[in-house]
Amino acid sequence: MKKLQLLAVASEIFPLIKTGGLADVVGALPAALAHEDVKVRTVVPGYPSVMAALPKGKALRTFAEFFGGPAQLIAGKAAGLDILALDAPHLFGRPGNPYSGPDGRDWPDNWRRFAALSRITADIAMGALPGYRPDVVHAHDWQTGLTFAYMHFAGGRRPGTVMTIHNLAFQGQFSPDLFPLLGLPPEALGTDGVEYYGAIGYLKAGLHYADRITTVSPCYAAEIRTPEEGMGLDGLIRGRSGVMSGILNGIDVDEWNPETDRHLAAKFSATDVAPRALNKSALQSFLGLDQDATAPLFGIVTRLTWQKGLDLLLANVPNLLSQGAQLAVLGTGEPGIEGGFRAAAAANPGRIGCVIGYDEGLAHRVLAGSDAVLVPSRFEPCGLTQLYGLRYGAIPVVARVGGLSDTVIDANPAALGAGVATGLQFAPVTYEMMRVALERSIGLYRQPDIWNQLRANGMASDVSWRDPARRYAAMFREIAPAD
Ligand code: ADP
Repeated sequence: MKKLQLLAVASEIFPLIKTGGLADVVGALPAALAHEDVKVRTVVPGYPSVMAALPKGKALRTFAEFFGGPAQLIAGKAAGLDILALDAPHLFGRPGNPYSGPDGRDWPDNWRRFAALSRITADIAMGALPGYRPDVVHAHDWQTGLTFAYMHFAGGRRPGTVMTIHNLAFQGQFSPDLFPLLGLPPEALGTDGVEYYGAIGYLKAGLHYADRITTVSPCYAAEIRTPEEGMGLDGLIRGRSGVMSGILNGIDVDEWNPETDRHLAAKFSATDVAPRALNKSALQSFLGLDQDATAPLFGIVTRLTWQKGLDLLLANVPNLLSQGAQLAVLGTGEPGIEGGFRAAAAANPGRIGCVIGYDEGLAHRVLAGSDAVLVPSRFEPCGLTQLYGLRYGAIPVVARVGGLSDTVIDANPAALGAGVATGLQFAPVTYEMMRVALERSIGLYRQPDIWNQLRANGMASDVSWRDPARRYAAMFREIAPAD
């Protein structure tokens, strides 16, 4: 089989820079695709954390002026990844969140920052680096959508193109007044181009020009064809449904391995699950929860936003507590929801533990120590925490939406009878249905035979990148140029 050269582009890559699941996927795919004879180089912005990880980086190109200032394209290896960083301090030399300033507002020049990222990627795709000819370009989310517009209007050998949607809620829309500054020809400004209801749409551009479109679960791929979930892009997506598919995310099963995880108080496995109890008591102690091995402990690790349905969980706190449950919260996000959990923890010492912040190690400990992990999202393209839950024996209790419905098998009587259930689902995502789901979970928790069976089924499910990587590789081979 011919080795395929894949040029990926994304605004985040784990472990160099991460705000969410996008980074995990972009960081894990290169190693997974290597097993499929696909060699990946990834273009990312030269944020401070990225540049710090490339001390021996080599400048492949230098620009006196690139989208408003001097820039370099730096090649280097970091964490086993083959990185091409756009080192442009005027665009990316800012600490903290990649998209917004200290006041939480999007940087006003995001249009320029991510146009620059897309432009450099398109240039590389079309042959700007001597001796490097990628077969396929894989662009992730709106920050990279203009890449395919730039490629469309460039001459020469064009690699195949794939646009992956990780979250349709983020579309990158900007004023049409900026169009002349993007360096695209006038004919690109139209509904048959980058225009989106009178604005410029970066994701729209990517979806329009890509050879293939993927999203991160089959169920989300179906949902976003509907006006209810399509967020204004459903018409375009329906029009392109012949080239669209859903490929589930995997997780990095080395990074997330309860048998070797350095963050845990006690390592465990599917065949030796008993030490898991030590992780529960360590988590209870860390969060100031009562040391109670019999209390059902629910965990959440998440961005605290409306999407994630956590206002409904806050409303359900009295129901949880009245049934003797405990709650472990790790998250950061909207001040109102953060405040809600802080207040709930303060009002219920010993029963609710809450860390507002981002903490990779604690995320592992919450998954290893909780009996169940809650993911009550209103919409969820794929979701990763329920996959971590499956692998770590924290039974997922999830909303029946998007990737959550694709990855968790509900413990209804038929699935229990067939011995295949791995968690609990509820729909629609309302206070009442969540209340019922929590009650149902606690009922099953109090039947150890069933609960242990759910856990064993979950821990046996394949949540690795193996199957998804095969699917991506097969698609890349279909669209790679013949030469
Ligand atoms: P999204 O990308 O919408 O935030 P995902 O479930 O796809 O949701 O991915 C979220 C990722 O971010 C997971 O790897 C999760 O463990 C991680 N994560 C979210 N919040 C935190 C946090 N506060 N601390 C540590 N990890 C977090």
